[in-house]
Amino acid sequence: MNNLFEKVHENLPIFKINHGSKMILYTPGYSVELNEIPKGELKNIFQGIEKMENSSLKKTLTFILLKSQEVEKKWNDLLNLPFSPECLTIQAGIECNLNCSYCYSKDVRTNNKKLFGFPDINSIKKIIEFISHFVKSTEKRLTIVFHGSGEPTYHWDKLVESYYSISKIVAEKGLNVFYYIATNGCLNDFQIEWLAKNMDLIGISCDGPEAIQNKQCYSKKTTFIPINEVCRRILSFNGKFDIRATITKESISSLVDITKYFIFDCKATNIRIEPVYLAGDNGFKDEDAEIFFKHFVDARNFADQYHVGFNYSGVRLNELHGPFCESIRNTIRLTTNDVTQNCFCYMYNNEDFITGSFNNEKIFNLSTEIDEIKKRSFLIPESCSQCINIYHCSRGCPEFCIFEKETSKSVKLNTFRCRLNQLLAVEVIINSTKNKVYEC
Ligand code: SF4
Ligand code: SF4
Ligand code: SF4
Repeated sequence: MNNLFEKVHENLPIFKINHGSKMILYTPGYSVELNEIPKGELKNIFQGIEKMENSSLKKTLTFILLKSQEVEKKWNDLLNLPFSPECLTIQAGIECNLNCSYCYSKDVRTNNKKLFGFPDINSIKKIIEFISHFVKSTEKRLTIVFHGSGEPTYHWDKLVESYYSISKIVAEKGLNVFYYIATNGCLNDFQIEWLAKNMDLIGISCDGPEAIQNKQCYSKKTTFIPINEVCRRILSFNGKFDIRATITKESISSLVDITKYFIFDCKATNIRIEPVYLAGDNGFKDEDAEIFFKHFVDARNFADQYHVGFNYSGVRLNELHGPFCESIRNTIRLTTNDVTQNCFCYMYNNEDFITGSFNNEKIFNLSTEIDEIKKRSFLIPESCSQCINIYHCSRGCPEFCIFEKETSKSVKLNTFRCRLNQLLAVEVIINSTKNKVYEC
């Protein structure tokens, strides 16, 4: 049962958090600490706010009402904005030089069609041409992401070839471009230098010090340069990186030590933490949320001392967001079967998952349903309507997928992720509000 917050307005996203003898009222983007008012009384006040006599409190509550209306409007504007691509994610096939215990890309749990290789270079060029019209007209930056299924650098020659082809088109069109690669960091010297010099940001997946990394992510065939050394070499070529760590039940109690390793040994300035995806019986259960939360806060507080970013993408209070669907992020994700996908995880062929394809003349077209797919990605499940994270939650994706049948009514959210997301949101809200006391 949720004992962290209560929704105190019938229709609008206004929530109350009990905080000692005070209460915090929160709507996405704004919070205020006030003297305690019981929930029922608050609901009545909001219904007849114009009759309030206490002018100071009336002013504050009117302000929060306005803010909550604004946030609702912003959300509706976002979901109604037509899809306008600004990012190409080039998704390599499932081949990888590691064999992580939790890898979902080649796993039966996703029931994915197994895709191998690297997307066709001509398809990449055509999509860049396609996206360039959109980014030019909106004056946005074009983002190129090299990503897996598996490990994108496994297809090194193709990766480099596509980079130079894209760079040529981008230069001819005078576009502003940002290159990102998500890699497991199993790189040789040449690759490290090349990536450091050509990528604007290198996202390294690493789960912690060697003992943890080698246990969770191992290779029977080869040994690789340790990740802290990879990071050091990237920096020596003036490259930039951040680190993404998958946290499992076995590693959660070491989260502070993992963070220390990233800060002191790897010299990381930004760390992203994700609880392991789709791990079934080995994954986190409801009862693990409090313990995950405790270790997360300890590690984040440690990182704060060194001004190192420490993030979790499941709930981001400073933006309005839903799950990780590409349609929400104006991204075209090209896979090796020459279609574009809405999902980073499930490689399905049904209409909710395919965002674009090539016709017989090899002309790329977005799906005619693309705006509808985008709207559905923003859908708020019934169970989220009373939640403080209503407008800033990944909905536990990919454990829970918004495109499951029976969408808004009978869905079963992932209870571990819900509890964790709620704990984290409430902690951040309390901490960011506690120094501001509004008299009423
Ligand atoms: S590095 Fe990524 S793709 Fe490779 S086995 Fe590990 S989780 Fe899977
Ligand atoms: S998924 Fe869970 S935490 Fe997220 S908004 Fe829905 S109920 Fe809240
Ligand atoms: S909501 Fe579903 S389709 Fe969207 S990113 Fe998550 S798992 Fe993929």
